[in-house]
Amino acid sequence: MPLSKPRLAKDLNRRIPPSHRSDLAGVLIPEVELQKRIATMGRAIARDYAGRDVLVVSLLSGTVLFLADLLRRLPFPLRVDFLGVSSYGAGTESGNLVFNKELKLDVRGAHVLVVDDILDTGKTLRAVTDRIAALRPASIRTCVLLDKKERRVGTFEADYVGFRIPNLFVVGYGLDFAERYRNLPFVGVLKPEVYAPGPVQPKRGSA
Ligand code: 5GP
Ligand code: MG
Repeated sequence: MPLSKPRLAKDLNRRIPPSHRSDLAGVLIPEVELQKRIATMGRAIARDYAGRDVLVVSLLSGTVLFLADLLRRLPFPLRVDFLGVSSYGAGTESGNLVFNKELKLDVRGAHVLVVDDILDTGKTLRAVTDRIAALRPASIRTCVLLDKKERRVGTFEADYVGFRIPNLFVVGYGLDFAERYRNLPFVGVLKPEVYAPGPVQPKRGSA
């Protein structure tokens, strides 16, 4: 489901908890819309996978909230495992990919569904699917909550996409900036000055 316009209208700022009003520019996807869309995604995945040996592989840590809500919508037997991969340091640009937690479960012969928070350049999911393919699963598909299609480098498409979003740095609902904001129940847009602080303004007044 494409999300055509960023919801950055001023009135949406009212929904930002007071504690975050100084660092968030707006709410992009409210909680109710996330839940509605995830229910639809769950139905599509259940239709495609029911009756198979399914292994959900979730990428840490941005998927925590999305995974918890999605799993509740998958009413059939499956296994869940976690792969630790990080591509961002404290900034917002993709850096080198580091695998910091390996899979624990046996992948061979399983139908693997890789779940990630957001598809950006595609570098992460390409590396992850290559790594899993080497373990000889029966199939691999990918599922992302958010897709910033215009940022893609080369071609990579996820099989299940929650929302297409514009090229904005988003936080909340699992997504972080410098490990913060993951606990927000909605997807919000960070004010650029938070991640790209301008030059320090000289203080006015007394010397
Ligand atoms: P890719 O490898 O596709 O460029 O980047 C994917 C990863 O970058 C995601 O799993 C996510 O961790 C991070 N990322 C990309 N865009 C954003 C964003 O707008 N906000 C946050 N918090 N993380 C992002
Ligand atoms: Mg991630």
